[in-house]
Amino acid sequence: MSVAILPSTPTHPIAFSYDQLDALRSRLVGRLITASSPDFDEARKVLYVTVDRRPLAVVRAANAEDVAAAVGFARARALPLAVRSGGHSLAQHSMIDGAIVVDLSTMKRVNIDPDARIARVQAGATSGDLAGPANAHGLALSTGDTASVGMGGLTTGGGIGFMVRKYGLAIDNLLSAQVVTAAGDIITASEFEHPDLFWAIRGGGGNVGIVTEFTYRLAPVGQVLGGALLLPATHEVLRGYLDYAASAPDDLTTIANLMRVPPAPFVPQERIGELVLAILIVWTGSVEDGERALAPLRALATPVVDTVSPIPYPEIYRYTDHQSAPHAASIRSMFAPELSDAVIDASLAAMESATSPYSLVQFRGLGGARARVVADATAFAHRDSRYFVAIIGLWLDAAEDASVHTGWVESLWQAIRPEGSGVYVNFLENEGANRVRDAYPPATYARLAEIKRRYDPGNLFRFNQNVPPRR
Ligand SMILES: Cc1cc2nc3c(=O)[nH]c(=O)nc-3n(C[C@H](O)[C@H](O)[C@H](O)COP(=O)(O)OP(=O)(O)OC[C@H]3O[C@@H](n4cnc5c(N)ncnc54)[C@H](O)[C@@H]3O)c2cc1C
Repeated sequence: MSVAILPSTPTHPIAFSYDQLDALRSRLVGRLITASSPDFDEARKVLYVTVDRRPLAVVRAANAEDVAAAVGFARARALPLAVRSGGHSLAQHSMIDGAIVVDLSTMKRVNIDPDARIARVQAGATSGDLAGPANAHGLALSTGDTASVGMGGLTTGGGIGFMVRKYGLAIDNLLSAQVVTAAGDIITASEFEHPDLFWAIRGGGGNVGIVTEFTYRLAPVGQVLGGALLLPATHEVLRGYLDYAASAPDDLTTIANLMRVPPAPFVPQERIGELVLAILIVWTGSVEDGERALAPLRALATPVVDTVSPIPYPEIYRYTDHQSAPHAASIRSMFAPELSDAVIDASLAAMESATSPYSLVQFRGLGGARARVVADATAFAHRDSRYFVAIIGLWLDAAEDASVHTGWVESLWQAIRPEGSGVYVNFLENEGANRVRDAYPPATYARLAEIKRRYDPGNLFRFNQNVPPRR
C-alpha cells in the first residue's frame, strides 16, 4: 500500500464541537471514553500517582483500524494526540490534558509460533504478557526488568532487557511491525517493506508512527539461572561489580540497584533497611557454567541474600513486582563508557542521605550482543557504552513534596553526569530538546528528523521525546 506523504498540518486547533466525538465513536470497534463515561477516571490513570490529567477522549482501540480512525480524527481537527500502551512513560507522555489518547492497553493478543520461534504481539501487551506464553514453549524475548512495562513503549525506545548481553535489545529481535502512520495508513515495516520506517521505529521512541503489532524472533530460553544476589554496599563491592558486569560472558546479564533492603519474603527480617547492592541475575547458559560465571560476584563479599537458582525465565519478574505498583518517580540517567571511583563514592554517599527509603541508584553492565550490532542499523545507536546508570527518586504518596526528592536526584546527577555519554530515550523525563539530542548521535538524529519529515511532517506524534521533522 502506498503511504500518503502529508502536507504540514496546522498546529492550532481547528473549530471543534464535542458532538463530533459521536462520529468517531460510531466508527470504532473499541470504545471512546470521555469525561461523561463511568470509567473515565480509571481510563486516565497511568503508573504514576502524581499524574492527574484530563484528556478530551480516550480511544480504547480494538484494532489497527480504530487507531487509524483516531489518528485521522485528531489530525483533521489539529487536536493533540497521545499514545498509551503500558502507561509507564517516565516523561508522562501517554496521558495529556485535552488530547485524544490512543489507548492500546486492551490490544494484548500474543500469538506464538513455536516451530518458527516467532511471536506476534499486539503493542498493548506487557513484558509479562509475553513472557508467560513464550515460556510455555521454552522460548523468550529479552524484555525489560518489570512485567508491567508495555511492549509499545519499550520496543519503540529500544528495550534493554534481562538478557540484553546475550540476545541484544528487544529491537534487535524485531522482524516487522504493523504501523499506523500520521496519514492514517496501516502498513507493515520491516527490512523489506518501508525499511526507513522500520529503522526509525527501532529506537525512535514513537516519533514516526503508532505500532499496533510487533513480530519478534524468540530465543530458545526456558529455564535460566536467576535470582537476586544482595551484597553489602561498599566501594569494593560496587567497583568489583562494575569491573565484572560489562565483561562477563554474554550469558550473564545483571541489573544492580544500590538500595535499602526491602521487606521481601526472601529477605531475613533483621536485614530489612540495610544498604545493599541488589544484583538481579539472569544466566542463560548451563547451570554449571553459570555457577562458575557467578563466582566472581559471590566472592566480592559475604552475601546478605543469595536466591540465585534454576528458574523458569518469567519468575525473574517476581523480584520487581513492586515496580509495577503505582508510585511517583524522579529520574536522571546516562550511558557511560567507564565509571570512576568518584561515581561510586558519590552514589554511596547519596544513598546515605536519600530522601525516600525507596530511592535507588541503578547500574547495568552492558556490552555483549547489544554492542555487536552496528550503530547505524537502528535509531537506537548508543551501542558501545559499557554502562547504564539511573538515579531514581521514588516515593509512594502524591502528597509528598516532590521537590525534596527531585532535589536529591539532581544533586547526585550533577556530581556524576560529567562521566556520561548519551542517554537512553526510554529513561528520559521532560528534560528539554538538548537531552533528546543526547539520545541520538548527530547523524542518527538527522536521519530520524528526515524520516519524520516524510512520515509525520506536521509533527502529529509530538507527545514523546520529540524529534521535530527536518525543515
Ligand atoms: C518501573 C519501570 C521499569 C522499567 N524498566 C525498563 C527496562 O528494564 N528496560 C527498558 O528498556 N526500559 C525500562 N523502562 C522504561 C520503559 O521502557 C519506558 O518507560 C517505556 O516507554 C514504557 O512503555 P509503555 O508502553 O509502558 O509506556 P507508555 O506510557 O504507554 O508509552 C510511552 C511512550 O512510548 C511511545 N509509545 C508507546 N506505545 C507506542 C506504540 N504502540 N507505538 C508507538 N509509540 C508508542 C509513546 O511516545 C508514548 O508516549 C522502565 C520503566 C519503568 C516505569
